[in-house]
Order: sequence, then C-alpha cells, then structure tokens
Amino acid sequence: MSIYESSKCTSCMACYNACTKNCIEMNYNNSNNLEPCINENLCVHCNLCLHLCPENNPVQKNRSLEAYACWSLNDLERKSSSSGGIASIFYSHFITNKLGSTYGCSYDENLQLKFSKANTVEDLIKFKTSKYTQAYIGNTFKEVLQDLKEDKFVIFVGTPCQVAGLKKFLRKDFEKLLTIDLICHGIVSQKYLDDYIEGLHLPQKPDKLTFRGEYNYYFNLYKNYKIIFSEKSEDNLFFKAFLDGLFYRENCYTCPYASINRVR
Ligand SMILES: Cc1cc2nc3c(=O)[nH]c(=O)nc-3n(C[C@H](O)[C@H](O)[C@H](O)COP(=O)(O)OP(=O)(O)OC[C@H]3O[C@@H](n4cnc5c(N)ncnc54)[C@H](O)[C@@H]3O)c2cc1C
Repeated sequence: MSIYESSKCTSCMACYNACTKNCIEMNYNNSNNLEPCINENLCVHCNLCLHLCPENNPVQKNRSLEAYACWSLNDLERKSSSSGGIASIFYSHFITNKLGSTYGCSYDENLQLKFSKANTVEDLIKFKTSKYTQAYIGNTFKEVLQDLKEDKFVIFVGTPCQVAGLKKFLRKDFEKLLTIDLICHGIVSQKYLDDYIEGLHLPQKPDKLTFRGEYNYYFNLYKNYKIIFSEKSEDNLFFKAFLDGLFYRENCYTCPYASINRVR
C-alpha cells in the first residue's frame, strides 16, 4: 500500500509520527530520497497515514495581511546567521522569557541533519545558518504535541512542507504554537551529501559543515574546529548542483508551497 504518489512525497514524516502501530519506516528510494514504507505485517489498515498526508489532503494556506523586512540589530547575531538572524531572535525570545520549547535543525558530528529541541540560549547556536540538505524529522512532531498538551508555547521553524506536515499531524490549531516556514527553493537528500563527502577522500572524517563564509557562500568542512576543506560555491560541485537546482527532491520541482499564500 502506498501513502502517496512517490513524486509528491516531501518526506515530512507526518505519517511516520501519526502511526500508532509504528509500522512506517523511512527508507531511501531509487532516487536516493527518503520515503515512508509500510510494514504490511504490522499495518492494521486504519488509513490514518493516508488521511494525514498533506499531499493527499492539502493544508490550508493563508495570505499574509502584512509583510515586514527586518534583520537583527545585533551584529554578532546577524553575522552568525545566514539571512539576517530573525530565526534566532524568535528563538531567544522564547527561551529568555521561559515561554516554552524551540525546535530547529542542526548537523550532528556525523554531519546528519536532524530536528531537535534547544533548551538554553547557548544551545540555540546549533540552529543557526541555512543547511542545504533535508532535515530528518524523526519523532519531533510527537514531541511538539506533547509540549502543547503540557500547555507550553512551541516555536517550530522549518521548510514549508515540514510545517504542513506538522499542521496535518496535529489535526487542529493550537494557540500556543508558532510556526515559521522558510522561503525555500528546494532541498537535497542527505544521501547526496554523504556520498559527495565520501568521494572527497579526505584524510580526516569531518565533524562540522557550513555553507557560508562571513560574506559569501562557501562549502567548508571542519575537524576539531579547523577547516580541512574549503571551496567557494562556484567552484564546489555540491554547491553548484544545489544552486542550479540539479538534484532536489522530485516534489520540489512542483512545490505547492512556493507561493505568496503560506502555510502558517
Ligand atoms: C533549503 C533552503 C532553501 C532556501 N532557499 C531560499 C530562497 O530560495 N530564497 C531566499 O531568500 N532564502 C532562501 N533560504 C534562506 C531561508 O529562507 C533563511 O534561512 C531564512 O530567511 C532564515 O534566515 P535567518 O537568518 O533568520 O536564520 P538562519 O540562521 O539562516 O537559519 C536558521 C533557521 O533555519 C532553519 N533551517 C536551516 N536549514 C534548514 C533545513 N535544511 N531545513 C529546515 N530548516 C532549516 C534552522 O533550523 C533555523 O530555524 C533557504 C534556506 C534553506 C535552508
């Protein structure tokens, strides 16, 4: 049984989080993109996954009433972020005022991009900067629901398809949930990054990756805080392919969220 039409799946993992029988696994398909696969031996055919899939049942999109252009006035905050540092400002407001939980994504030491929660201002640093691969949601939506049930405020920043997945999974609006959907022109599978880095045959295994220098796009790999590989975006194969849109997920090329009306 398929949950979706494969070319439309965003890998938002709403189905994975919703399945009460834990019978959905995320596996790489022939195009090296993560997709949900149902274990037929465990499935009880409740069809919740079909129903909650934002590609089967689109979420409502809203037109913003007002728009503001802004950036952080804190030089350090702005320079250490990718596009003005507003994400950091929202997060910091949540933490310093003890409002609730903050969710975003970061690379771990194996350069796997995953969503997680930050509990302190220091911990928020991990969410900074744009990462140009798809972040793994894991059980994040279930954690968000738990926080909301405990009457906490929650902020979730992600791509529009991830926000759509969260909204579908939650099934109703929560006053204490703030979602921010990034402007996104497409996302690349983690697998392509893994394969690219492996193909570089570096003498050391990198433990950190950034896509920016202070002013320009750079593909930088680090080991123990030292740069071990650095190329300008125009010289770097991975970066060039990303910026030229050569290897996004199939669904990104017909993204229903790249519009003036947003999922909020
Ligand atoms: C895949 C991708 C495509 C983008 N495409 C465009 C574009 O076409 N036009 C444009 O103007 N801007 C684009 N951006 C930039 C994005 O809109 C900015 O990151 C945003 O404006 C926030 O900037 P900031 O300085 O406030 O925070 P930043 O420090 O830039 O970003 C931090 C926030 O972004 C989240 N984030 C970072 N990478 C990812 C990811 N891979 N998946 C989910 N969440 C992530 C972090 O969790 C955190 O919440 C893109 C970013 C990404 C990640």
